[in-house]
Parts: sequence; C-alpha cells; structure tokens
Amino acid sequence: MDDLIVVAGAGGFIGGHLVADLLRSGHGRIRGVDIKPFDEWFQRSPEIDSRRLDLRGRDACLEAVAGARQVYNLASDMGGMGFIETHKAECMLSVLINTHMLVAARDAGVERYFYSSSACVYAADKQTTTDVTPLREEDAYPAMPEDGYGWEKLFSERMCRHFREDFGLETRVSRYHNVYGPHGTFEGGREKAPAAMCRKVIAATLAGADEIEIWGDGQQTRSFMYIDDCLYGTRALMASTVREPLNIGSDELVTINELLDIVEDIAGVTLRRRYNPNAPLGVRGRSSDNTRIRQTLGWAPSIRLRDGMEHTYRWIHQQMTMPAGQRRVYA
Ligand code: NAD
Repeated sequence: MDDLIVVAGAGGFIGGHLVADLLRSGHGRIRGVDIKPFDEWFQRSPEIDSRRLDLRGRDACLEAVAGARQVYNLASDMGGMGFIETHKAECMLSVLINTHMLVAARDAGVERYFYSSSACVYAADKQTTTDVTPLREEDAYPAMPEDGYGWEKLFSERMCRHFREDFGLETRVSRYHNVYGPHGTFEGGREKAPAAMCRKVIAATLAGADEIEIWGDGQQTRSFMYIDDCLYGTRALMASTVREPLNIGSDELVTINELLDIVEDIAGVTLRRRYNPNAPLGVRGRSSDNTRIRQTLGWAPSIRLRDGMEHTYRWIHQQMTMPAGQRRVYA
C-alpha cells in the first residue's frame, strides 16, 4: 500500500476514476500526471502528488515515473470518432508518450507497467456488418486497424511486448471497448457516442427542440462499458499473470438507435431523428468477445447499459444546468 503508483493521464476520464479508485482501496502514495492545467482535470484529489507534464518528452517521463513501482499509462491524445478520423497525425504522436514512458519505466526499475490499448486495433474487415461476430484477441492480426489512432495503439502494444521480452519489464495491455460514465468528455469534439447522445437530448429538451441529429443511419452497432467495470478489469489485469493484450469491454451489443432509445427513456422524451450520412461513422459493427477474460480473470464486464447510462445522463445534466459562472467547459 505504500508503494508509489503513477497514473499518466490522471486528468482524463479513466485516469481520474482510477486515481479515485486506488485512493478508495487505501493506496497512500499516488502520483497523477497530465498535460492539462489542473483546473481542467475531471477529478483531482489533494491527497495525491499531481504534476503537469507533457509526456511526449523523455525528461518529463523520467520525472513522472521516478521512484514508482507500478505505472498505469492512460495518457494519449484521443477522442471519439469525430476526433480520431480528423486528427490522425495527433493520434499517432501519442507513440512518443508510450515510448518514452516505457524507456523511463525500464530505467527507473518499475516492476509493472499498464498500457491502455483499444478495440480500434482490430482489423477493419472483421467489422463490416451490424450483426458483427464479437472480436477475439487474435482478430487483431493480420493487421488493418483504424487509420492513425489504431495503428499507434497496435504499435505501442508491441512495444510493451518487446520491453517485457527483452528487458524484463512486466507489461499488461488492455484493449478497452468504448468506455463511458460520469466525469468524462461530453462536448468540444472529443466526446464519444454515449456522452454525445446524452448531451444532445439534454440540449434539445432545455431548448424546447423536438429533433436531434444522429451520425449515420443509426443501425451501426457497438458495445459500451461502464467505467466501474473498466476500473475493475484494469486493476484485475494489472494484478494478473496475463501477458498478452486482453479485451476489456462489454458484449451487450446495441444499435445507435437503441442507445438513443435508452437516453430518451431516461429523459422521458421522444425526439425526431435526423440522420446524417456524411458524419464520421467508424466501423459498421463492433463488440467484445469475452471468452479470454472469463478464462483468465474469471470475470467479465456485466453492468447493464441502461444502468450505466442513468448515472452518466444525470451527471451530464447536472453539468449542463449549472448556473452560469460555475459551469466548467471541458475541452
Ligand atoms: P481522456 O482523453 O479523457 O484522457 C487522456 C488524458 O491524457 C487526457 O487528460 C489528456 O490531457 C492526457 N494527455 C494527452 N496528451 C498528453 C501528454 N502529452 N502528456 C500528458 N498527458 C497527456 O481519455 P480516456 O477516455 O480517459 O482514455 C484513457 C486511455 O484509454 C487512452 O489511452 C485511450 O486511448 C484509452 N482508451 C479509451 C477508450 C474510451 O472509450 N474512453 C477506449 C479505448 C481506449
């Protein structure tokens, strides 16, 4: 409990929740690092050593991991489909973060290193239909991941593998599938579908509008994992002997239309849907095959989408209805 744990990306959505979860379980020495100014962190605890560093630089990474026993690297320049389809170079530059973090962790004698990869590493030709076969870990190869963001994730996964094989740094790699929950991005262009859907419905109801825009035809399918499942899976994987990349994602497949049905039900409204076929769409269907996580960790994400969306909607509603001046804008 007294070992120093470093969370890179602590000002972000998952990193902020992870710090809070580690504190709740009694870890006393946590260092949180992020490039964002402190007042833009989604969650910030005075109990941790918070540092503002740009982890694309090697010296910053050396400072970040100094004295650490475990490192969780969640820092990356990322967002939902609207961001990653239009910022491919920025997404690929996150390779600097993971590369320098691995080198720094090796040199600092870190015992265990976690890297947050993504379902975007999976080959595009395995995700062409709405009734998609859930993705197994081996489906990442032969490689044809999401352009930009997905290639960087796949490359960085392999860096983790080779640092383990060649330098003995124990690395753990998750492939997260769409994580959602409170204290995350819901506006500004980086938000993902669940938060965007909540924001659009709330904005429409506050403005008295009766219509919202949906990206694509609404028939595309996805699975969404609530943050509590993500935290449990992340920490279980970190503590495990599982050395190969592991899916951490829900296998509750829904269409985007069904996701909106859920949000409308929570909000108690029904809106007209204007479909925009020219918006960024991503793959046609995607879900997580959870066979391996069940076999290796004896557990798989199970929080129902309806339940997680209820919490998420309430938090976003609270943010959007705060009095002017108190409202924080998350870029
Ligand atoms: P997020 O954007 O909320 O958090 C990432 C944090 O990294 C941000 O606070 C950002 O400021 C920070 N960061 C970016 N560049 C940095 C730099 N140069 N130096 C220091 N910090 C920097 O994203 P998130 O949803 O919390 O995702 C965390 C990790 O999980 C990311 O690696 C992401 O790719 C991965 N992931 C997330 C999801 C998801 O659905 N949220 C899905 C798959 C993978």
